Amino acid sequence: MTDPELSPAAPGGGTEPASAPVIVRALVARGSGAELRVERVRLPAPGPGEVRVTIRAAGVCHSDLSMVNGTLAARFPLVLGHEATGVVAEVGPGSQLTVGTPVVLNWAPACRACWWCRRGEPWLCADTTAPTVPRGETDDGVPLHLTLGLGALAEAVVVPERAVIPIPAGLPPEQAALLGCAVLTGVGAVRNTARVAPGESVAVVGLGGVGLAVLSAARRAGATTILAIDVAEAKRDLALAAGATDFLLSDDRLSKEVRARTESRGVDHAFECVGRAATIRAAWRLTRRGGAVTVVGMGAKDDMVSLGALDIFHSARTLRSSVYGSSDPDREVPVLAAELADSALDLGVLVSGTVPLDEAPAAFDRLARGEGARWVVTLD
Ligand SMILES: [Zn+2]
Ligand SMILES: [Zn+2]
Repeated sequence: MTDPELSPAAPGGGTEPASAPVIVRALVARGSGAELRVERVRLPAPGPGEVRVTIRAAGVCHSDLSMVNGTLAARFPLVLGHEATGVVAEVGPGSQLTVGTPVVLNWAPACRACWWCRRGEPWLCADTTAPTVPRGETDDGVPLHLTLGLGALAEAVVVPERAVIPIPAGLPPEQAALLGCAVLTGVGAVRNTARVAPGESVAVVGLGGVGLAVLSAARRAGATTILAIDVAEAKRDLALAAGATDFLLSDDRLSKEVRARTESRGVDHAFECVGRAATIRAAWRLTRRGGAVTVVGMGAKDDMVSLGALDIFHSARTLRSSVYGSSDPDREVPVLAAELADSALDLGVLVSGTVPLDEAPAAFDRLARGEGARWVVTLD
C-alpha cells in the first residue's frame, strides 16, 4: 500500500461529507451510433466495499468503440472507458483502501470464490454481474450503464474496491492507464497464453494499442522474427518502434511474404488483435504446422470463422483466445507498474497523444480511422 502522504492529492477527496452523491463530467453514448457527448452525471456515494476514484488518465480502447458502433451489445445511456488510472478519493464502509492511493482500474475483478477463480483462472471468473448493473444516473435522472462495469472516461468513478489495483505513485498517468487493458492484455497474451519462447517467430495482425503491446512483449520475450501486419502503411514506423523486426501490409501477397521470412514454414505464433473472422483466418494461414494462433481481439457474436475440417487436423495448429491476457490483474499489474517505474517497461511509443475529456469524441473518430496507437484522455 502506498503512503498517501507521498501520493498525488485527490481533487475533492475528503472535502465533501461522506456518503454524498457527486456530480462529474463523463463521456456518454445515448445509443448505438449516437454522437458521443460529455455530460454531467451523478455518481452515488460509495457503498460498503466500494470506492470513488478520481480519474487522472483513461485510454480510448477499441472495445469502447465496439460498444457504440454496434459490434458489441450495449445498454444505454452508457459511460465509455475501461482503461484508466486515478487516485482513491473516497472509501465506502469497510473498505481496506486508503484515500490518496494511486490505482489502476480492473475491468474483470475476480470474485476469488467461483470454480475458475479457485483453480487459478481469475480472468474467467463466473461472477460477471457487476458490469451489467447500472450505477449512477444522468443529469435528467436516467440510470447509467458503465462500459465493462467501469465507465472510466469520466472525472471520477464509483466501483467495487476489488476493481482497483494499487500502483506506485509518480508514474506517468497516460502510460499507467494502459496497464489496465492494452498492456496487460498484450503482455499476458505473449507471456501467459502463447508462452512465446526465445528464438521463436511471431506475427501480429492488427496494430492498435493491443497489437503494439503484443509486439513489444514479443520482443521482450526474445522472439527473433516479429512480423507486424496491418492494412495501414501508416503503422509501419510505430510497429518498428514498438519492437517489430518487419512490417507487412495485409494484402494478397501476405502469406508469401510471411513464408519468405520463416523458411517457408509460417510463424510459430500468430496473434490476432482485431476481432474479425477474416483476420482470424489470415492469422491461421500465417502459422506453421503445429503452431499456435492466439485470438486477442474481441469480435462480434455473428461473425463466423470458417476453417476446413481437414485443415484443422492436418495443420495441427492450436487456436485459442486470450481473455485479459490470461492474467491475474491483481498480481500482474503491480509487476508491470514496477517495471514502468524503473524504466524496464517503456510505454511511450504506445501513447499517440493526450487530449482533454472534451476532445474524447474526436479521439474516437481517430481510433475509428485507425490513426495512431493509443489516444489517452487526461483529466488533470
Ligand atoms: Zn480495452
Ligand atoms: Zn470468480
